[in-house]
Amino acid sequence: MVRSGRFVPGPEHQEIVFLTGSGISARTGLGTFRGPEGLWTLAPETEQAMHAELLPESLPQLWSVWGRMAAIAAEHGPTPGHRAIARLGAPVITQNIDGLHQAAGSEVVAELHGSALFAVCLSSECRWRAPLDPGDGDRPEDHGVPATCPECGAPTRPDVVLFDETLPEAPLAQAVRLAQQAELFVVVGTSSTVFPAAQLAPTARAHGATTVLIDIAPPPETSLRAVFDHIIAEDAHEVLPDWERTLNQVGGTSFLDPF
Ligand SMILES: [Zn+2]
Repeated sequence: MVRSGRFVPGPEHQEIVFLTGSGISARTGLGTFRGPEGLWTLAPETEQAMHAELLPESLPQLWSVWGRMAAIAAEHGPTPGHRAIARLGAPVITQNIDGLHQAAGSEVVAELHGSALFAVCLSSECRWRAPLDPGDGDRPEDHGVPATCPECGAPTRPDVVLFDETLPEAPLAQAVRLAQQAELFVVVGTSSTVFPAAQLAPTARAHGATTVLIDIAPPPETSLRAVFDHIIAEDAHEVLPDWERTLNQVGGTSFLDPF
């Protein structure tokens, strides 16, 4: 049910790129971080453990929180929004660490904040990384990960970017590249006020992309809204499957009518 007047991608949007945040995963029970129902509000001590300066003493909290999150994500699986994005075949830049875009089948995913589904070494010089078998508990062993790095012996930790840590270079560079190449840049489930996500929509627009925000409660601030050519104040889990149907219908018509 495409409402009249609502923006829908057209044939001029061959390169669609998505930027997603916690809003797209909220249905899984992972929740969002901010706001009254957010993880930071419900468990403020958890937020304390998210600051890199508290490492390594905070490792049990990290394993408990991110291991649990990985387990919930694996159990619930992707949302209709994740699935529609995957079926559109569009690259994704995400602030999420739940791996649900990959689970939905998206092949190009730039994870700006790491992944709760992986463990890394606490030593920044060591490249060891391994997938979790997420469970419940505050020890790495509870999530199928050795307590110490098999390569250098340092403690292991979830591969999640903490508050005071710099973003991983490779995904960040990939995100900028994707934003520059986009013909349609779509922001879903994030206020997009945090660096560097806040800069990606303007970057895409500066390179000629149409910019769209899908947010059931879009921000009232004019400065935030001004970045977007279209703001769709609806549920992304309805909008994105609609887009997918519309675009696939177009493809089907041309297939049936080769002349
Ligand atoms: Zn190591």
